[in-house]
Amino acid sequence: MSTLEGAAKPLNIARAADACFADLQNYLGQNPHADVPDDILASLHLLFGKNFAKALEVVDGGGIVCFVGEHTGRRVYKVPGRRAGDHYIVFPAHYCACQSFQYDVVGRSEAVACKHQLAARLAGVLGRTSVSRVPDYTIAHMLLEHCA
Ligand SMILES: [Zn+2]
Repeated sequence: MSTLEGAAKPLNIARAADACFADLQNYLGQNPHADVPDDILASLHLLFGKNFAKALEVVDGGGIVCFVGEHTGRRVYKVPGRRAGDHYIVFPAHYCACQSFQYDVVGRSEAVACKHQLAARLAGVLGRTSVSRVPDYTIAHMLLEHCA
Protein backbone atom coordinates (compact mmCIF):
# COMPACT_ATOMS: atom_id res chain seq x y z
CA MET A 1 0.00 0.00 0.00
CA SER A 2 2.98 2.34 0.39
CA THR A 3 2.97 3.33 -3.28
CA LEU A 4 -0.45 4.90 -2.77
CA GLU A 5 0.53 7.03 0.20
CA GLY A 6 1.34 10.14 -1.81
CA ALA A 7 -2.17 10.23 -3.19
CA ALA A 8 -3.84 8.95 -0.05
CA LYS A 9 -5.90 12.00 0.79
CA PRO A 10 -7.83 12.57 -2.46
CA LEU A 11 -8.11 8.84 -3.05
CA ASN A 12 -9.63 8.29 0.36
CA ILE A 13 -12.08 11.16 -0.08
CA ALA A 14 -13.13 9.76 -3.43
CA ARG A 15 -13.56 6.30 -1.89
CA ALA A 16 -15.48 7.66 1.07
CA ALA A 17 -17.70 9.59 -1.34
CA ASP A 18 -18.31 6.42 -3.38
CA ALA A 19 -19.30 4.63 -0.18
CA CYS A 20 -21.66 7.48 0.81
CA PHE A 21 -23.35 7.51 -2.57
CA ALA A 22 -23.66 3.71 -2.48
CA ASP A 23 -25.24 3.92 1.00
CA LEU A 24 -27.62 6.59 -0.24
CA GLN A 25 -28.59 4.55 -3.28
CA ASN A 26 -29.25 1.47 -1.12
CA TYR A 27 -31.25 3.47 1.39
CA LEU A 28 -33.40 5.10 -1.28
CA GLY A 29 -33.85 1.72 -2.95
CA GLN A 30 -35.46 0.47 0.25
CA ASN A 31 -37.21 3.74 1.15
CA PRO A 32 -38.08 5.27 -2.21
CA HIS A 33 -39.87 8.37 -0.95
CA ALA A 34 -37.69 9.12 2.04
CA ASP A 35 -35.50 12.18 2.48
CA VAL A 36 -31.75 11.83 2.46
CA PRO A 37 -30.81 10.62 5.97
CA ASP A 38 -29.06 13.20 8.14
CA ASP A 39 -25.97 11.07 8.69
CA ILE A 40 -25.38 10.70 4.94
CA LEU A 41 -26.00 14.42 4.42
CA ALA A 42 -23.49 15.18 7.17
CA SER A 43 -20.90 12.83 5.66
CA LEU A 44 -21.24 14.32 2.19
CA HIS A 45 -20.99 17.81 3.62
CA LEU A 46 -17.87 16.84 5.52
CA LEU A 47 -16.30 15.33 2.41
CA PHE A 48 -17.14 18.10 -0.03
CA GLY A 49 -17.50 21.22 2.11
CA LYS A 50 -19.00 24.26 0.42
CA ASN A 51 -19.20 22.47 -2.94
CA PHE A 52 -21.83 20.18 -1.47
CA ALA A 53 -24.17 23.05 -0.50
CA LYS A 54 -23.66 24.56 -3.96
CA ALA A 55 -24.43 21.20 -5.56
CA LEU A 56 -27.69 20.94 -3.62
CA GLU A 57 -28.66 24.38 -4.94
CA VAL A 58 -27.98 23.20 -8.48
CA VAL A 59 -30.10 20.06 -7.95
CA ASP A 60 -32.92 22.14 -6.43
CA GLY A 61 -32.76 24.48 -9.41
CA GLY A 62 -33.72 21.54 -11.65
CA GLY A 63 -32.96 21.12 -15.32
CA ILE A 64 -30.31 18.38 -15.03
CA VAL A 65 -30.51 15.98 -17.97
CA CYS A 66 -29.02 12.49 -17.94
CA PHE A 67 -28.10 11.13 -21.37
CA VAL A 68 -27.83 7.33 -21.42
CA GLY A 69 -26.09 5.52 -24.27
CA GLU A 70 -28.58 2.98 -25.60
CA HIS A 71 -26.12 0.08 -25.82
CA THR A 72 -23.32 0.88 -23.40
CA GLY A 73 -25.50 2.43 -20.69
CA ARG A 74 -22.82 5.11 -20.35
CA ARG A 75 -24.16 8.21 -18.63
CA VAL A 76 -23.32 11.82 -19.33
CA TYR A 77 -25.11 14.69 -17.66
CA LYS A 78 -25.98 18.17 -18.80
CA VAL A 79 -25.97 20.43 -15.76
CA PRO A 80 -27.20 24.04 -15.81
CA GLY A 81 -24.64 26.75 -15.08
CA ARG A 82 -25.14 29.90 -13.05
CA ARG A 83 -26.28 32.09 -15.94
CA ALA A 84 -29.50 31.31 -17.78
CA GLY A 85 -28.80 29.16 -20.83
CA ASP A 86 -25.35 28.07 -19.65
CA HIS A 87 -24.72 24.39 -19.10
CA TYR A 88 -21.84 22.01 -18.54
CA ILE A 89 -21.31 18.51 -19.86
CA VAL A 90 -20.40 16.32 -16.91
CA PHE A 91 -19.02 12.82 -16.57
CA PRO A 92 -19.66 12.56 -12.81
CA ALA A 93 -16.68 10.47 -11.78
CA HIS A 94 -14.13 11.94 -14.19
CA TYR A 95 -14.84 15.22 -15.90
CA CYS A 96 -16.67 18.54 -15.98
CA ALA A 97 -16.24 21.26 -18.57
CA CYS A 98 -16.23 24.10 -15.99
CA GLN A 99 -13.31 26.27 -14.85
CA SER A 100 -13.50 25.09 -11.26
CA PHE A 101 -12.86 21.54 -12.42
CA GLN A 102 -9.81 22.70 -14.37
CA TYR A 103 -8.35 24.81 -11.56
CA ASP A 104 -9.48 23.26 -8.29
CA VAL A 105 -9.78 19.58 -9.19
CA VAL A 106 -7.16 19.01 -11.92
CA GLY A 107 -4.78 21.93 -11.35
CA ARG A 108 -4.48 22.25 -7.60
CA SER A 109 -6.04 18.99 -6.39
CA GLU A 110 -7.89 21.03 -3.77
CA ALA A 111 -11.18 19.31 -4.46
CA VAL A 112 -12.10 15.84 -5.68
CA ALA A 113 -15.10 17.10 -7.64
CA CYS A 114 -16.72 20.35 -8.73
CA LYS A 115 -20.27 21.28 -7.79
CA HIS A 116 -21.59 20.14 -11.19
CA GLN A 117 -20.13 16.66 -10.78
CA LEU A 118 -21.64 16.41 -7.32
CA ALA A 119 -24.96 17.78 -8.53
CA ALA A 120 -25.07 15.24 -11.37
CA ARG A 121 -24.29 12.40 -8.98
CA LEU A 122 -26.83 13.51 -6.41
CA ALA A 123 -29.55 14.17 -8.98
CA GLY A 124 -28.89 10.73 -10.50
CA VAL A 125 -29.24 8.95 -7.15
CA LEU A 126 -32.25 11.05 -6.12
CA GLY A 127 -34.01 10.55 -9.46
CA ARG A 128 -34.03 14.31 -10.03
CA THR A 129 -33.00 14.26 -13.68
CA SER A 130 -34.85 13.88 -16.90
CA VAL A 131 -33.45 10.87 -18.73
CA SER A 132 -32.82 10.82 -22.45
CA ARG A 133 -31.73 7.59 -24.17
CA VAL A 134 -29.47 8.40 -27.09
CA PRO A 135 -27.25 6.49 -29.52
CA ASP A 136 -23.78 5.88 -28.11
CA TYR A 137 -22.16 7.99 -30.80
CA THR A 138 -24.13 10.97 -29.48
CA ILE A 139 -22.47 10.48 -26.08
CA ALA A 140 -19.06 10.25 -27.80
CA HIS A 141 -19.74 13.46 -29.74
CA MET A 142 -20.82 15.31 -26.60
CA LEU A 143 -17.60 14.35 -24.87
CA LEU A 144 -15.44 15.18 -27.88
CA GLU A 145 -17.03 18.58 -28.32
CA HIS A 146 -16.73 19.56 -24.70
CA CYS A 147 -13.55 17.83 -23.60
CA ALA A 148 -11.31 18.82 -26.52
ZN1 LIG B 1 -18.10 21.74 -12.99
